[in-house]
Amino acid sequence: MVVTDQNKFQAIISHAKEYGFVFPSSEIYDGLSAVYDYGPWGSELKKNIRDSWWSEMTRMHDNIVGIDSAIFMHPTTWKASGHVDNFSDPMIDNKDSKKRYRVDHLIEGFADEQAKAGKQEVAEHVVAEMDKLLAANDLAGLKMLIEEYKMPCQVSGTVNWTDVRQFNLMFSTQLGSLAEESDQIYLRPETAQGIFVNFLNVQKTARMKIPFGIAQVGKAFRNEIVARQFIFRMREFEQMEMQFFIRPGSQKEWYAYWKEERMKWHLSLGFPKDMYRFHDHTKLAHYADAAVDIEFQFPIGWKEVEGIHSRTDFDLSSHQQFSGKKLQYFDPEINQNYVPYVIETSIGLDRMFLLTLSHAYAEEKWTKEDGSEDSRTVLRFPAKLAPIKLAVLPLTKKDGLPEIARDIIKDCRQDFYCFYEEKDSIGKRYRRMDALGTPFCVTVDHQTKEDSTVTIRHRDSMQQERVPIASIKELVRASMK
Ligand code: ATP
Repeated sequence: MVVTDQNKFQAIISHAKEYGFVFPSSEIYDGLSAVYDYGPWGSELKKNIRDSWWSEMTRMHDNIVGIDSAIFMHPTTWKASGHVDNFSDPMIDNKDSKKRYRVDHLIEGFADEQAKAGKQEVAEHVVAEMDKLLAANDLAGLKMLIEEYKMPCQVSGTVNWTDVRQFNLMFSTQLGSLAEESDQIYLRPETAQGIFVNFLNVQKTARMKIPFGIAQVGKAFRNEIVARQFIFRMREFEQMEMQFFIRPGSQKEWYAYWKEERMKWHLSLGFPKDMYRFHDHTKLAHYADAAVDIEFQFPIGWKEVEGIHSRTDFDLSSHQQFSGKKLQYFDPEINQNYVPYVIETSIGLDRMFLLTLSHAYAEEKWTKEDGSEDSRTVLRFPAKLAPIKLAVLPLTKKDGLPEIARDIIKDCRQDFYCFYEEKDSIGKRYRRMDALGTPFCVTVDHQTKEDSTVTIRHRDSMQQERVPIASIKELVRASMK
């Protein structure tokens, strides 16, 4: 059974907006479907996740280097990669009006009408059926669903439909000012192809020997058909991908290696092992000879956060064929030229953000010593990923306390993100820092002036202790390892 917690998910979405993590895109115009903006604390959290991945892949592996390739690529790239022919979702046409619909829009529109007419159950049923059929890629089933419920075209009002056909998920745009077909280019739907086309540039300039990897973080764009789950499925998102080039025949061994290596990174961030699982693909993409998803138990159920794919020599061979340029490697150890095989690790940065946020989110209630009830919403981020590591709070706005607080920040801000706040009671300030996921709050009080000690409060336990100012930096740094 898939355990989902829609209430928790909704609470996380509201919290993310209220506390400056994630906003709907262009909200003053009522937003843009499946596009989001990251606010002050969201962009900081996202950067920390990105940095952790980048450092793990490039700095911690001698044989991996990074690149930053452009979003726009020569259009033939997408012919060679198979995206022009294979990267698609279902559409349907009305034979009378000739109007074309995306199947999900048609069905969702029908469901909205049903809900407005008070038929909530029908509305929910057709959307649930649609999601199942889309996941199974059952085009005939989708048409049957549309016909069974006599879903009409908004223009002709008839139910005279064509078969369901596939629709490409790539966004296209025009290069230059002339709208000729030959000028059509795409917004990349994955970052991987920027790595493949640069394979030889990188191999030669960075003097890499096989096996070696190329890592990249960047935006990708997909005109997603089911896009209703906050930042889980977006139309503009960020990927963190690494292509590892190997000798043909060694793919099983490297596939196993990267499966383990990637899981280690997830666990090293402090996320619990029992919330992760591997899910092997039975239906493989056109380029793969093995593929596995790393799944996490999100509030919306077990879902993919990362994919590890054994891509064979499909991409390099195909680019070789389409470009007419050799993309081969001379292996001095075996004295042979070959097109390398590839193991890919591909993770969505936004999805990793959602994983981090949803795992951190907790609503807590307890009874205080005097018998009264208390509560808080806290983000229990791993300290390494928390947007703000340390809040420094002078007890009052006078008596020289703000100056001491500012000095503490001055001493620490080179090492990690610090936050100064003097408004409101200390209790309120602690709650606000809990809601932002700040692992440590330091309070500067009158005793500080006498003995240079402060009260440090730990977010998770809410315990407070008195420590010398001189020990703060190391205490916070140690928690970030
Ligand atoms: P899904 O099955 O969820 O559509 P996928 O198998 O198409 O994903 P890949 O093409 O393997 O995904 O992309 C690699 C990673 O990129 C995914 O594991 C996911 O974390 C992320 N990703 C893919 N599509 C999106 C999206 N629309 N929004 C956010 N992240 C995405």
